[in-house]
Amino acid sequence: MRLLIMGPPGAGKGSQAPLLKKTYGIPHISTGDMFRAAIKQGTPLGIQAKAYTDKGELVPDQVTINIVKERLQEPDCQAGFLLDGFPRTIAQAKALDVILKEMNISLDAVININVPDDILIQRMSGRRMCRQCGASYHITNIPPQVANVCDVCGGSLYQRKDDSLETVGNRLEVYYKQTQPLLDYYAQSGLIHHINGAKDVEDTFNQVKTILEELHDFH
Ligand code: AMP
Repeated sequence: MRLLIMGPPGAGKGSQAPLLKKTYGIPHISTGDMFRAAIKQGTPLGIQAKAYTDKGELVPDQVTINIVKERLQEPDCQAGFLLDGFPRTIAQAKALDVILKEMNISLDAVININVPDDILIQRMSGRRMCRQCGASYHITNIPPQVANVCDVCGGSLYQRKDDSLETVGNRLEVYYKQTQPLLDYYAQSGLIHHINGAKDVEDTFNQVKTILEELHDFH
């Protein structure tokens, strides 16, 4: 299964991804996670990316395309993959088409999660992440069992700098301007499926599963 998961920041892509990874046995490739890991390690990529991610701006296309191209060539992607947060621009989508063509593979589906802005803002500003394993929480919607402690690994929770209220508005603006046009791009190829992500993680996942099961039956 080769999937793209799309939607504005805060739509729940990062909450659906581990479920899809587990259900379909495919690696979860999140460019946001890759940049955060590089920033934490202080690599040249991380230093370059930080200037953009802190402000909620997009990291330049060529940098992003290169890391995805390398990642897709890792052996675990032979089983399929879930791309999360990539592509985010038309240039990235076109580059992905070329990469996949060179690899002689194609996408099975693009899942787009729709959520109204007021809910997105509430979700992002309350989001907390584990410093150690990257697991995602929300102060009221998905609280950890012990305040500020990760249920999975015991690591401490923090708020992403780009989830601060000042940056969230800019990320939404960047999304509507640069990423939303991709919905038309993928509509033209007939790959896109829209779902409503306004409720909880389980409700959203049930919709995703229904779509993917239908696809599977069809093939
Ligand atoms: P995310 O975790 O997907 O919300 O990504 C966090 C940040 O990483 C974004 O706000 C961007 O600064 C950067 N980023 C992630 N994916 C991309 C991408 N495909 N293109 C450019 N920048 C990206």
